[in-house]
Amino acid sequence: MFPLKLMVFVALVSIVAAGPWGMICAGNPRNKIRGCDRHGCGHYKAPRINGLHLGVDVNCRDGSTVYAPFTGVIGGRVNPYKKNNAINNGLLLRGSGFCIHMFYIRPVRYSGRITKGQKIGVMLPMQRVYPGITSHVHVQNCNLSNPTGNL
Ligand SMILES: [Zn+2]
Repeated sequence: MFPLKLMVFVALVSIVAAGPWGMICAGNPRNKIRGCDRHGCGHYKAPRINGLHLGVDVNCRDGSTVYAPFTGVIGGRVNPYKKNNAINNGLLLRGSGFCIHMFYIRPVRYSGRITKGQKIGVMLPMQRVYPGITSHVHVQNCNLSNPTGNL
């Protein structure tokens, strides 16, 4: 009896804890955030070489399908780095009251409407640039506020 009650409780908590955004990456249905690895940690305001990490890193294996977290429009291409490398690509997404940058994906398109759950791209080969890192999509609010509650 107790284990069943516990399981139901855990399931309910999981549902309540989930934010308004849909699954971002195939294989990570709960939008689990990157923990800490030898390259850093994935949570909001984690320390970085030059300041704080003002987004969240959602675990995503290289080559996985990436989905629109909400319904809206693609606002164009955004690049995480000034100097180019194998993972220097991403999208600006807007709609449903949200505005975000998603980095390290190879987009299917750079404009047009999106529906929550629609494929928008593929995770780029992050292991090639940062060997041993927990590969992830970086999600950042346009106003740099904490996006964790939306996941
Ligand atoms: Zn990040």
